[in-house]
Amino acid sequence: MLTFLLRRFAPDMDSADSPAARLRCGMVAAALGIALNALLFVIKLAAGLLSGSIAIIADAFNSLSDASSSLVALIGFRLSAKKPDPHHPFGHGRLEYVAGLVVATPPSSSPPPA
Ligand SMILES: [Zn+2]
Repeated sequence: MLTFLLRRFAPDMDSADSPAARLRCGMVAAALGIALNALLFVIKLAAGLLSGSIAIIADAFNSLSDASSSLVALIGFRLSAKKPDPHHPFGHGRLEYVAGLVVATPPSSSPPPA
């Protein structure tokens, strides 16, 4: 499915050295993450409300937070593709790593892993 979508929206995805192809692949993957997690949110929220299950409603909001992670990835790909400027003569490619760090950092209220 992902391969089909990438071939459709980023036909040059095999040229990994191309920044444009890299941007398109990242954008397709992030947009897919947003769309599918938003769909999961709606389905789980409806199921939770219909069944009265707090656990399913909570899981719906977990899917919504996953969609926001994909949004951060999408913004990171967009910003990292910006051309070099006088303040950043080597470009903005490192913003991909910053976006990854933002996605990977748990909220401060999360318990530490066991
Ligand atoms: Zn800059």
